[in-house]
Parts: sequence; structure tokens; C-alpha cells
Amino acid sequence: MKRFSSLWISLLLFVLPILVGLSLNQLTGSLLAQHLLHKKRSEIEAAMNDRQLALERSMGDQMAHFAFDCGERDMILLRDPKHYSRYIRLQGVKLASGKGCSSLGPDLPLFDADNLPDPGLDTTGLTATEQDFNTEQELVIFSKHQGHLAYWVLSNSWSHTILEKPCLDCFYLELIPLVPGLSRQELFPRGDKRIKEEADSLSLSFTPISSQLQQTLWAGRALQKYAQNKARRDTFWIGGALGLLLLVGYWLHRNYRRSLKGLIYRGLARQEFVPFYQAVVDSRTRAVVGFEALLRWERENAFTPPGAFIAYAEEQGLILPMTEQLLEKIIADLPHLAPQQWVSVNLVAAHLEHPHLRSQLQRHDWPSPTRLTFELTEREPILDIQAAISEITLLQEKGYHFKLDDFGTGYGGFAYLQRLGIRQFKIDKMFIDTIGTDDPKRNLLEAIIAFGLKSSMEMIAEGVETQEQVDYLAHRGVYLIQGYLFARPMPLRDLLPWLQAQTAAPHSAG
Ligand code: C2E
Ligand code: CA
Ligand code: CA
Repeated sequence: MKRFSSLWISLLLFVLPILVGLSLNQLTGSLLAQHLLHKKRSEIEAAMNDRQLALERSMGDQMAHFAFDCGERDMILLRDPKHYSRYIRLQGVKLASGKGCSSLGPDLPLFDADNLPDPGLDTTGLTATEQDFNTEQELVIFSKHQGHLAYWVLSNSWSHTILEKPCLDCFYLELIPLVPGLSRQELFPRGDKRIKEEADSLSLSFTPISSQLQQTLWAGRALQKYAQNKARRDTFWIGGALGLLLLVGYWLHRNYRRSLKGLIYRGLARQEFVPFYQAVVDSRTRAVVGFEALLRWERENAFTPPGAFIAYAEEQGLILPMTEQLLEKIIADLPHLAPQQWVSVNLVAAHLEHPHLRSQLQRHDWPSPTRLTFELTEREPILDIQAAISEITLLQEKGYHFKLDDFGTGYGGFAYLQRLGIRQFKIDKMFIDTIGTDDPKRNLLEAIIAFGLKSSMEMIAEGVETQEQVDYLAHRGVYLIQGYLFARPMPLRDLLPWLQAQTAAPHSAG
């Protein structure tokens, strides 16, 4: 069922961007149309600037060298390929005598040369070819020199090429001359004029720098339609790619959440780490003297013991926030327990190599130093022994006690007891299990107990499961017992009725 819903979520995530994109198609289409219109205007401006440069180069060069006699030099200059580009179609010279020549050879009656306005010295004028046979007029740039006239007929084809992209009949361009001699009514239309007449057409007016023409660019239904189709196509691509990204993100996130690290982070956020309490009993009186707080992960109505995650949590540095969460709950539970009973909390070296634990206790104004105790395992080495010593010393000065856990199984052993000033240790289950057997480790147990008694250490036997073990230990002076014989670890809600039953009939423990 869960798997099924993940598949539905994946499908939804994949199609969602496409659906959103399609529902916004009208809007994205018209935004794209606006964008294409502005882009076209930039293209036209760039081409016109380009044309202006090409013109200035040719005109400067030619005007300086024309002999104005339509002789060999003039013809070579008129026909030199370097003066032709996609902007200049034809050029020619009209002499003061009335004669003329052109790059095609003979003089051409393309425009009314007699009634041109005088552009003044060193400047150029603008006119247009006659409108013959209902064809497009072409712009003509001219320059005068001592009664002679040189002219350059500009080609229209580049503007058509530009206007035909990205779709045919999408743009219409009007050029309105801003110079004397040419009427403002002469519009020099380029493209399909019907676009201008369309009710909802878009337009943009601009005058390129160094141009004598105001330009108005129109775009109508054809561009809108093209833009909407393109936006729809892009929606499928971009939306599909986005959907794929969402999908990958979703599965990565899902896998991360299902990974142990992700689960632990979520468990921390949901306060899923809770203490179980296991009683420590004095075998002489059967009184419960204290408890060891053992971490449990409460999730989906089950309590996971630490073996499944604690090593990983230590490795990933997550043990610090985990213990912090545990300690908060223990501090809140303490008032429910008898004032003479202590609770000991398991620490790892990292707790003493960082000021994390100390800061937490300080935040609580050093709670119950005589009742809250700490167990430090010797299974893991302490790397920064100096930091551990100063941290433990500080906490001991505040009144807290430390026990060395799993004594005899690991690294520090006697050295830790001495250097860290610890006066209590726990005898590991590994040794307790040898009682009543001929396991050679039993000699070690004897030695450990002898050492504890000689140096007046307080000893707690761990993992005690039989009365025989209790008797053996009592016979050798070890009375503090933790083990399933008396009690298993349990949550506070079970511990309180259990304790009440103990008080009522203390000899029935276990
Ligand atoms: P430990 O500190 O040596 O804790 C004693 C373990 O022995 C506990 O297992 C306890 O339930 C179990 N035990 C007690 N009496 C008996 C018995 O009679 N028979 C048997 N078979 N087992 C008994 P638990 O709770 O699974 O914890 C395992 C280890 O996880 C602990 O060993 C300790 O090293 C670690 N641990 C537990 N809680 C914490 C914690 O809050 N912080 C850290 N850093 N480690 C923890
Ligand atoms: Ca312990
Ligand atoms: Ca232990």
C-alpha cells in the first residue's frame, strides 16, 4: 500500500510541472510573444548599427577618392566588391553636368535627383526610390560634393530575412523618416501590413542611434500563436525535466529518510529516544538503591534496544544529541523516584571530549548531583585524555559521580580508575557468566573483586541472572546487583508499579 502511494506521489510529482505549465500556457505564451518582439527589436537595431558602420566605411572611402567624371577611377570605386554587403544593393554618381554612372554602368533614373534637400557639407541625406509598379520603395543615402552627387541604394532583403524568423508573417515593420524632404506619411512598410490592423496586435516604436528613421515593429496573432505553441512544447521539455528532478529529489529524500541516519534525525526531532530503567538491588536488604538508564528508541509502538543503532550513532556523532534527549527525560523523571535512589547514565568518550554534557547540566543549574551519576565504558578508548580529565574533574567538583563500566573488558581499566579519580566500577556480565563454570576467566573475576575490595571501590555486578551468582558474589563482598534476576529494564510507567510492589513485599524481587 505504502509502495503504491509512493508510486502515485512519483507520478504526480513528474506530471505536476507539466500540468502547471500547461495551465499557464496562455500567460507564458503572451510573455514569450512580448519577449520575441523585444528580441526582434534588438536584432533590427543591431543590424542597423551594423549597416551604419558599413555605410560610413564605404562612403568615407569613396567620397575621398571619386574623381566625379564617371571615368575609370570612379567605375573601379563603384564596382569594388569591398563596398558591397547585404545592406548596399547599388551605388552611383550623378555629375553636376547632368550625366551620371552607376555600379551597373549607365546612369539610373531611380529617384528624383533634382529636388533633393541639401544635407549640408560633410553630412548625408536620405531619400527613397520611386514607387514603381507597386513595389517596395528602397532607401537611398546620398552625399553632395561641389554640385556632384554620390548615392547608395540600400537593400531591403536583410530586413525581410530578419522579419521572417522565427515564423513567417509574424512581424511587420514600418519605417517613418525623420528628415526633411521625405514625407512622414511615407511609411516604407516591410512585411505583412495586415498585422498592424489586427485588434490585439503588439507594437514597439524605437529609433536606432544614428538613424534617420523611426521604426515601429508590429506583431499579431501569428506570433501569439507561434509563441503559445512554442511555450507548450517547452512546457513538455522543461516541465518534464523539472518533473524528473522532483522525482529524483523525492526518491533521494525518501531513501535518506529510510536510511538509518535519516531515521535517527527524524527520531531526534520526534523525541523518540527514551530511557528504560533497570534496578540495581542491594542483595543484603533487597532494597533498590538505584537504576541504570538504558536507551530505547520508541518508534511505531516498538522499543528498539541500543545494539541496533548505538554504534552507528557514535560513529556519526549523533550520540551527543541522543544522550541530551535522554538526559532531559531522566531529569524530568527523577522526582518520581525515591530521593535516596540514583540513576546512572551511559556516556561515551565524546561526552567528555566536548563540553556538550557540561553545558546541558549547567543549563539545568546542575541538577541532583548526588542522584544523577554517569557510567563511562572502557570498551572504547578515550582519545583526548587531558580533556576527559578536566571535564570529569569539573563535574566531580559539582558533586557528580562516575562509574567505570564493563571493567576489565577493554582499554583503560586500572589506569582510568586512577587518572580519572573514579571510585566505582561495574563488573561485566562476561565475568558474572563464569560463576559456577570452570571458565578460566573466573580467575579474572576473582582478581577483579580482590582489587575492588582492596582499593575500597564500590562494585556493581551486571547481568546477574541466577541466585547462585548472587550468593557467590555476596560471599565475596559484592552486594550491588543488576540483572534480570531482579529486574529487566523498563519504562517509568512500568517501573513505578514495580517499585510499589517491591516496597510492599521486598523479598519477592525478581
Ligand atoms: P551496558 O551499559 O553494559 O548495559 C547493560 C546491558 O545489559 C543492557 O542492555 C541490559 O539490558 C543488559 N542486561 C542487564 N541485565 C542483564 C541480564 O541479566 N542478562 C542479560 N542477558 N542482559 C542483561 P541494553 O539495554 O541492550 O544495552 C546494551 C548496551 O548499549 C549497554 O551496555 C551500553 O553499552 C549501550 N547503551 C545503552 N544505553 C545507552 C546510552 O544511553 N548511551 C550509550 N552511550 N550507550 C548505551
Ligand atoms: Ca552501562
Ligand atoms: Ca556494562
